[in-house]
Amino acid sequence: MTFKDLPFLINPRLRLSSPYLRVEWIAIDLSLLEHEAGFPSPNREVYLFQKRPGILRETGPDTLRFYYSDSTDFNRLGIQQWLRGQIKKFVEQVASAVLPVRLHELEREKKLHCRNVCVETLPKDILGQCSSLKDITLSPKLALFPKRMSDAVMLHELAHLRHLNHRKGFWAYLSVLLGEDANEEKFKSDIAYCEHRDMIDFLLK
Ligand SMILES: [Zn+2]
Repeated sequence: MTFKDLPFLINPRLRLSSPYLRVEWIAIDLSLLEHEAGFPSPNREVYLFQKRPGILRETGPDTLRFYYSDSTDFNRLGIQQWLRGQIKKFVEQVASAVLPVRLHELEREKKLHCRNVCVETLPKDILGQCSSLKDITLSPKLALFPKRMSDAVMLHELAHLRHLNHRKGFWAYLSVLLGEDANEEKFKSDIAYCEHRDMIDFLLK
Protein backbone atom coordinates (compact mmCIF):
# COMPACT_ATOMS: atom_id res chain seq x y z
CA MET A 1 0.00 0.00 0.00
CA THR A 2 1.23 3.50 -0.77
CA PHE A 3 0.19 6.84 0.64
CA LYS A 4 -1.95 7.50 -2.44
CA ASP A 5 -3.95 4.31 -1.85
CA LEU A 6 -5.30 5.43 1.50
CA PRO A 7 -9.02 6.18 1.12
CA PHE A 8 -9.05 8.56 4.09
CA LEU A 9 -6.43 10.85 5.53
CA ILE A 10 -6.29 10.93 9.30
CA ASN A 11 -5.44 14.43 10.49
CA PRO A 12 -6.83 17.09 12.86
CA ARG A 13 -9.75 17.66 10.51
CA LEU A 14 -11.00 14.15 11.29
CA ARG A 15 -13.95 14.53 13.65
CA LEU A 16 -14.67 11.25 15.34
CA SER A 17 -17.18 11.20 18.14
CA SER A 18 -20.05 9.00 19.19
CA PRO A 19 -22.19 8.57 22.31
CA TYR A 20 -19.44 6.32 23.68
CA LEU A 21 -16.14 7.95 22.73
CA ARG A 22 -14.34 10.80 21.02
CA VAL A 23 -11.03 11.63 19.39
CA GLU A 24 -9.52 15.05 20.15
CA TRP A 25 -6.68 16.89 18.41
CA ILE A 26 -4.64 19.42 20.35
CA ALA A 27 -2.08 21.67 18.66
CA ILE A 28 0.90 22.57 20.86
CA ASP A 29 4.39 24.03 20.32
CA LEU A 30 7.06 21.60 19.19
CA SER A 31 9.15 22.43 22.28
CA LEU A 32 6.23 21.54 24.56
CA LEU A 33 5.55 18.36 22.56
CA GLU A 34 9.20 17.33 22.99
CA HIS A 35 9.05 18.14 26.68
CA GLU A 36 5.81 16.19 27.23
CA ALA A 37 7.13 13.22 25.26
CA GLY A 38 9.81 12.89 27.93
CA PHE A 39 7.24 11.75 30.49
CA PRO A 40 6.27 8.19 29.60
CA SER A 41 3.15 6.70 31.14
CA PRO A 42 0.99 3.63 30.44
CA ASN A 43 -1.72 5.72 28.77
CA ARG A 44 0.73 7.52 26.48
CA GLU A 45 2.60 6.65 23.32
CA VAL A 46 4.83 8.81 21.17
CA TYR A 47 5.18 8.57 17.41
CA LEU A 48 8.76 9.42 16.48
CA PHE A 49 9.71 10.81 13.10
CA GLN A 50 13.42 11.15 12.35
CA LYS A 51 14.03 10.53 16.05
CA ARG A 52 11.89 13.49 17.10
CA PRO A 53 8.37 13.31 18.56
CA GLY A 54 5.79 13.75 15.81
CA ILE A 55 2.65 13.06 17.82
CA LEU A 56 1.86 12.20 21.42
CA ARG A 57 -1.16 10.01 22.06
CA GLU A 58 -2.89 10.06 25.43
CA THR A 59 -5.83 7.79 26.26
CA GLY A 60 -8.58 8.42 28.81
CA PRO A 61 -11.58 6.16 29.58
CA ASP A 62 -13.61 7.52 26.66
CA THR A 63 -11.23 9.99 25.00
CA LEU A 64 -8.27 9.59 22.69
CA ARG A 65 -6.15 12.74 22.46
CA PHE A 66 -3.50 13.45 19.87
CA TYR A 67 -1.05 16.28 20.62
CA TYR A 68 0.71 17.53 17.51
CA SER A 69 2.71 20.57 16.39
CA ASP A 70 3.23 22.73 13.30
CA SER A 71 6.00 20.40 12.22
CA THR A 72 3.88 17.24 12.39
CA ASP A 73 3.66 15.95 8.82
CA PHE A 74 0.43 13.96 8.40
CA ASN A 75 1.16 13.26 4.73
CA ARG A 76 3.22 10.17 5.38
CA LEU A 77 2.30 6.53 5.20
CA GLY A 78 4.05 5.70 8.49
CA ILE A 79 2.19 8.27 10.54
CA GLN A 80 -1.11 7.34 8.87
CA GLN A 81 -0.63 3.67 9.72
CA TRP A 82 0.31 4.53 13.30
CA LEU A 83 -2.74 6.79 13.74
CA ARG A 84 -5.09 4.19 12.33
CA GLY A 85 -3.61 1.53 14.63
CA GLN A 86 -4.04 3.81 17.66
CA ILE A 87 -7.66 4.64 16.80
CA LYS A 88 -8.52 1.00 16.12
CA LYS A 89 -7.04 -0.18 19.43
CA PHE A 90 -8.83 2.58 21.35
CA VAL A 91 -12.23 1.94 19.72
CA GLU A 92 -11.89 -1.79 20.39
CA GLN A 93 -11.03 -1.17 24.06
CA VAL A 94 -13.97 1.18 24.61
CA ALA A 95 -16.34 -1.09 22.65
CA SER A 96 -15.43 -4.11 24.80
CA ALA A 97 -16.23 -2.09 27.91
CA VAL A 98 -19.41 -0.29 26.90
CA LEU A 99 -21.30 -2.45 24.37
CA PRO A 100 -21.96 -5.43 26.70
CA VAL A 101 -23.22 -3.00 29.37
CA ARG A 102 -25.68 -1.47 26.91
CA LEU A 103 -26.78 -4.91 25.68
CA HIS A 104 -27.51 -5.99 29.25
CA GLU A 105 -29.57 -2.82 29.79
CA LEU A 106 -31.64 -3.65 26.71
CA GLU A 107 -32.01 -7.26 27.89
CA ARG A 108 -33.44 -6.12 31.20
CA GLU A 109 -35.72 -3.61 29.51
CA LYS A 110 -37.08 -6.19 27.03
CA LYS A 111 -36.95 -9.16 29.44
CA LEU A 112 -34.70 -11.20 27.15
CA HIS A 113 -31.58 -13.11 28.13
CA CYS A 114 -28.64 -14.19 26.03
CA ARG A 115 -26.15 -16.73 27.35
CA ASN A 116 -23.07 -14.63 26.70
CA VAL A 117 -22.06 -11.45 24.91
CA CYS A 118 -18.66 -10.70 23.43
CA VAL A 119 -17.23 -7.91 21.29
CA GLU A 120 -15.00 -8.97 18.43
CA THR A 121 -14.17 -8.08 14.85
CA LEU A 122 -16.63 -9.66 12.43
CA PRO A 123 -16.48 -9.83 8.61
CA LYS A 124 -16.91 -6.40 6.97
CA ASP A 125 -20.69 -6.15 6.62
CA ILE A 126 -21.62 -8.03 9.78
CA LEU A 127 -22.32 -5.90 12.82
CA GLY A 128 -23.75 -8.53 15.14
CA GLN A 129 -24.42 -12.24 15.39
CA CYS A 130 -26.58 -14.48 17.53
CA SER A 131 -25.92 -18.21 17.70
CA SER A 132 -28.37 -21.05 18.35
CA LEU A 133 -26.71 -21.34 21.78
CA LYS A 134 -27.87 -17.75 22.48
CA ASP A 135 -24.38 -16.27 22.36
CA ILE A 136 -24.33 -12.74 20.96
CA THR A 137 -21.28 -11.24 19.25
CA LEU A 138 -21.12 -7.50 18.57
CA SER A 139 -18.76 -5.67 16.21
CA PRO A 140 -16.59 -2.97 17.86
CA LYS A 141 -17.74 -0.67 15.02
CA LEU A 142 -21.02 -0.21 16.89
CA ALA A 143 -19.23 2.04 19.39
CA LEU A 144 -18.86 4.58 16.56
CA PHE A 145 -22.47 4.48 15.42
CA PRO A 146 -25.23 6.84 16.51
CA LYS A 147 -26.95 5.35 19.57
CA ARG A 148 -30.26 4.77 17.78
CA MET A 149 -28.42 2.62 15.27
CA SER A 150 -26.20 0.64 17.64
CA ASP A 151 -29.27 -0.01 19.80
CA ALA A 152 -31.15 -1.20 16.71
CA VAL A 153 -28.37 -3.70 15.93
CA MET A 154 -28.42 -4.99 19.53
CA LEU A 155 -32.20 -5.34 19.48
CA HIS A 156 -31.91 -7.18 16.16
CA GLU A 157 -29.60 -9.73 17.80
CA LEU A 158 -31.83 -9.95 20.88
CA ALA A 159 -34.83 -10.60 18.59
CA HIS A 160 -32.92 -13.65 17.29
CA LEU A 161 -33.19 -15.17 20.78
CA ARG A 162 -36.87 -15.75 19.90
CA HIS A 163 -36.61 -16.14 16.10
CA LEU A 164 -33.40 -17.61 14.75
CA ASN A 165 -34.21 -16.63 11.16
CA HIS A 166 -35.19 -13.57 9.13
CA ARG A 167 -38.76 -14.61 8.38
CA LYS A 168 -41.87 -12.49 8.82
CA GLY A 169 -42.28 -13.34 12.49
CA PHE A 170 -38.76 -12.08 13.19
CA TRP A 171 -39.40 -8.65 11.61
CA ALA A 172 -42.75 -8.33 13.39
CA TYR A 173 -41.10 -9.12 16.74
CA LEU A 174 -38.20 -6.75 16.05
CA SER A 175 -40.74 -4.02 15.26
CA VAL A 176 -42.24 -4.56 18.73
CA LEU A 177 -38.79 -4.30 20.35
CA LEU A 178 -37.88 -1.18 18.35
CA GLY A 179 -41.26 0.43 18.82
CA GLU A 180 -41.31 1.19 15.08
CA ASP A 181 -41.76 -0.69 11.86
CA ALA A 182 -38.60 -2.69 11.21
CA ASN A 183 -39.13 -3.96 7.72
CA GLU A 184 -36.02 -5.55 6.35
CA GLU A 185 -35.23 -3.03 3.60
CA LYS A 186 -35.44 -0.05 5.88
CA PHE A 187 -33.16 -1.67 8.44
CA LYS A 188 -30.55 -2.58 5.82
CA SER A 189 -30.49 0.84 4.23
CA ASP A 190 -30.30 2.61 7.61
CA ILE A 191 -27.14 0.73 8.43
CA ALA A 192 -25.64 0.92 4.95
CA TYR A 193 -26.10 4.69 4.74
CA CYS A 194 -24.96 5.41 8.27
CA GLU A 195 -22.93 8.58 8.03
CA HIS A 196 -19.18 7.88 7.87
CA ARG A 197 -19.81 4.16 7.35
CA ASP A 198 -16.91 3.90 4.83
CA MET A 199 -14.57 5.65 7.22
CA ILE A 200 -15.62 3.40 10.12
CA ASP A 201 -14.94 0.33 7.95
CA PHE A 202 -11.53 1.75 7.01
CA LEU A 203 -10.49 2.65 10.56
CA LEU A 204 -11.47 -0.72 12.02
CA LYS A 205 -10.42 -2.91 9.10
ZN1 LIG B 1 -30.28 -11.19 11.81
